[in-house]
Amino acid sequence: MGRRCAVRTLLTDGEETIDISVVIPVYNERASLPALHPRLASAMEKLGRAWEVIYVDDGSGDGSGEWLAETAKGDRRVRVVSLCRNFGQTAALMAGFDHAQGELVATLDADGQNAPEDIPQLVEQLEREGLDVVSGWRRPRADPFLTRRLPSMLANRLIGLATGLRLHDYGCTLKLYKKRVLSGVRLYGEMHRFLPAYVAAQGGCVGECVVSHAPRRAGRSKYGLGRTFKVLLDLLTFKFLTLYSNKPIYVFGLAGLACFGVSLLSGLYAVYLKYGAEPSTNFNRTPLPLLCVAAGMIGVQFILLGLLAEMLVRTYHESQGRPIYQLRDGP
Ligand code: UDP
Ligand code: MG
Repeated sequence: MGRRCAVRTLLTDGEETIDISVVIPVYNERASLPALHPRLASAMEKLGRAWEVIYVDDGSGDGSGEWLAETAKGDRRVRVVSLCRNFGQTAALMAGFDHAQGELVATLDADGQNAPEDIPQLVEQLEREGLDVVSGWRRPRADPFLTRRLPSMLANRLIGLATGLRLHDYGCTLKLYKKRVLSGVRLYGEMHRFLPAYVAAQGGCVGECVVSHAPRRAGRSKYGLGRTFKVLLDLLTFKFLTLYSNKPIYVFGLAGLACFGVSLLSGLYAVYLKYGAEPSTNFNRTPLPLLCVAAGMIGVQFILLGLLAEMLVRTYHESQGRPIYQLRDGP
């Protein structure tokens, strides 16, 4: 039996309507929080809207949780969601979205690399251009070239190519969303960076806004080069799910048919070598019989996998009463 985990809200406020919720994932950022919080509060006060900040403590062990609980005491604008262990940045953001009450939701790193002072310009652009998401573009970016900026440049190109939404900086946490585009979103792995692409795939409007970026002044980064590979695998999953989640047999079936094609061609060529070609070659001396049988068997496996996936898709949609379509919001 696994350990029981629950999301615990330490402080919830009353019925007040909130315009903007700021969601901040926090993992061992005790050294950065005391500088960040007053900057955020003053930027949000200047904006003149009803706001709240949701700090999601992602299993910190350095006293961040205690600092946040203390800060939340007596301040109705500060809410703390504590996760029982470290679930990762994507899960922390999801927990924040699930608790956000605002019409708009901004996300921000806790280490002070993103400037809270940039939030008003995101809000302004979202409203002026009627967007659903505004994604930050860190320019210039204050991270090392080889381990961060280079992999990130390649990943941005690849994600743009694969999803059709060409953003310069998918990895920037500073983003602003309309709350309604986040409802029903379920994220896994490192997928928070694909949210703008997800919104665009659902017919939403996405914009980009240049934001400032500072080097990390306290604490340590939680990521290394390994994240690049996770992002690549997540991209594959994302592409598959957005394109074929309703018809997996189209992917597996196509691969199966291609294998059958290879099997048939190699079989026919082997027969031709034996009976049609001069001089005749015994096909046992070529790899063709092996190729013919192996490709045929792999083809069968693909088709069976596709059928299995089709059953899973039906179970998923029908057990949850989820239709395979989504209606457009508004008129
Ligand atoms: N973070 C988190 N859980 C994790 C790792 C990171 O909540 O498992 C938070 C972290 O506290 C920070 C943000 O995600 O607010 C980005 O992390 P970091 O600054 O280490 O990433 P980098 O800027 O180096 O890409
Ligand atoms: Mg950082």
